[in-house]
Amino acid sequence: MNNSFDVAILGGGLAGLTLALQTKQILPNASIVVLERRDGGAPEAAHKVGESTVELGTHYIREVLDLKDYMDEHQLPKHGLRFFFSPQHKNDISKRVELGPRKLLPVPSHQIDRGTFENKLTELCIERGIEVLLGAKANDVDFKDAGHKVDFNYQQEDKSITARWVIDSTGRASFLKRKLGLKKDINHAVCAAWFRIKGDLNVDDWSDNKEWNTFLEPGLRRLGTVHFMDKGYWVWLIPLATGNTSVGIVADPAIHPFETYNKLDKALEWLKVNEPLCYENIEPRKDDILDFKILKHFALNSEKLYSHDRWAISGESGVFLDAFYSPGTDFISLNNTLISDLIARDMAGEDITLHTDVYEKTLFAIFNNWVPLYEDKYPMWGLTQTMILKIFWDWAIYWGVPTLLFTNDGFTKLMVLKNLFASENGGGQKFGRLSIQVQTLLLEWSKYDTEQFEDRYIDPFDIAYLRDLHIGLDERYSPRELVAKVNENVVLLEEIASELFRLMSNQIYGTPMDMKVDPYAMSLKTKPMEVENGIIAREQVKEGLAVMWYYPVK
Ligand SMILES: Cc1cc2nc3c(=O)[nH]c(=O)nc-3n(C[C@H](O)[C@H](O)[C@H](O)COP(=O)(O)OP(=O)(O)OC[C@H]3O[C@@H](n4cnc5c(N)ncnc54)[C@H](O)[C@@H]3O)c2cc1C
Repeated sequence: MNNSFDVAILGGGLAGLTLALQTKQILPNASIVVLERRDGGAPEAAHKVGESTVELGTHYIREVLDLKDYMDEHQLPKHGLRFFFSPQHKNDISKRVELGPRKLLPVPSHQIDRGTFENKLTELCIERGIEVLLGAKANDVDFKDAGHKVDFNYQQEDKSITARWVIDSTGRASFLKRKLGLKKDINHAVCAAWFRIKGDLNVDDWSDNKEWNTFLEPGLRRLGTVHFMDKGYWVWLIPLATGNTSVGIVADPAIHPFETYNKLDKALEWLKVNEPLCYENIEPRKDDILDFKILKHFALNSEKLYSHDRWAISGESGVFLDAFYSPGTDFISLNNTLISDLIARDMAGEDITLHTDVYEKTLFAIFNNWVPLYEDKYPMWGLTQTMILKIFWDWAIYWGVPTLLFTNDGFTKLMVLKNLFASENGGGQKFGRLSIQVQTLLLEWSKYDTEQFEDRYIDPFDIAYLRDLHIGLDERYSPRELVAKVNENVVLLEEIASELFRLMSNQIYGTPMDMKVDPYAMSLKTKPMEVENGIIAREQVKEGLAVMWYYPVK
């Protein structure tokens, strides 16, 4: 075994293995070692969570790592995220308001069996000349100018290597965060329990209602990541390529105490009370349950992620927020892209101080803008109207800014980051402020959302601007054009926010639908007044919002 490497990656899970592949792709001559504690291959079907990918992470896997052929052949195509609301109809799925795409989405995503995938990634690393040591547990790192010394145990023997770069991707073991005391509190305490069950759980079979059954092409509902929603929780169903199904409960402990579902028997009882159709379809197959896992307070934060002293943190060993929109792979993709770029610059002899600083600030800006999407929001998870508005808003910002930046390599272009994030008027900063404003607005509005809706279907592709934002992810822009496009999307988001506000204010206070609004200063606490320099929305935005607004406009 070699004793000296350019890059040592601690932890060979999704983050570590993909970072090794991406770095090797950029630097074919770099010597890279991955130390993975697990001895031997990963188990299929019941390995880890992180099974559902969305657009940003999918672009990374398919296009950046060039694994599209493998994904198409060996993992499942995903039919978007699918949500069932109106919890008053928990016993009749066909009556629940349903949100999800009817037709296959043009921009792909996947359901991933994590065990099969990690085994494939390990195989690819070895094929491409990356050293992967299974059964190697990192014990210590001594940071030195000449090369960091990594102590580890491999096959019952203590060993050491030196490496110019050390990357921590040890997941929740958070190796460097612990060693360097970087753990940071985060005010989001949700918990989760999950298991995998042998065979299919196809929601299409959960109702005899013919019209409901044939509304979507048979089998498409099953390929989505299904979310069952009610106050304080969501339950997921994810089909896996192994033919099995992943089932999970994610809940706010203030509403659903963790102790009510943190053991398999309790979780089944919890489903019986909260999602009876899940229980009815799972309990008779109890013996087919392959595993059961839990995580209390799973959100994670860190004081630091990248250092110009040539270390970095990627994946769950750094930051993680919430699984609601399946964003784990997105953060891994973004982290890895920034880290591999820093490594490449450093190996080319560049001073990386500025890049390290800007990349870390950008990553934290994206993370911090995302916190209000979830923080204190689980009480409104059972409100049909509020959640439809929220999900469509959250998708618009996700597709319109960070995902478009990622699919166009914008995060590694200082010119793009400077234009968008360096000044208050840059689209990136405005997007952050707007996002926080709308999350507060949704919370204020949720008090007034008292109506129970039923028996409706809503498709993101019914809304023209959402369709454009989604399809727009496939457009390729030069850096200058990209800045212009993101700024253009932020103007669209401002109009959407203003129209949302008008609809809510109209419902609560009867204010007119042509009232001009400042989207950065919206509040429903008192009756709003027209703002002189405020905005109104273009027709396409009004039409889109009208599709998702269920209260009669006064
Ligand atoms: C409830 C829940 C649901 C989720 N659902 C989704 C989802 O649908 N989609 C999504 O994209 N993300 C999801 N995520 C996030 C996703 O699980 C993580 O982003 C992803 O698994 C993290 O990968 P990782 O490589 O950082 O960590 P891991 O996959 O945990 O890998 C870390 C590796 O490091 C190894 N290791 C640990 N300590 C050492 C050591 N000292 N030395 C050497 N090796 C070591 C471990 O053996 C392990 O293999 C979810 C998370 C939660 C909590």
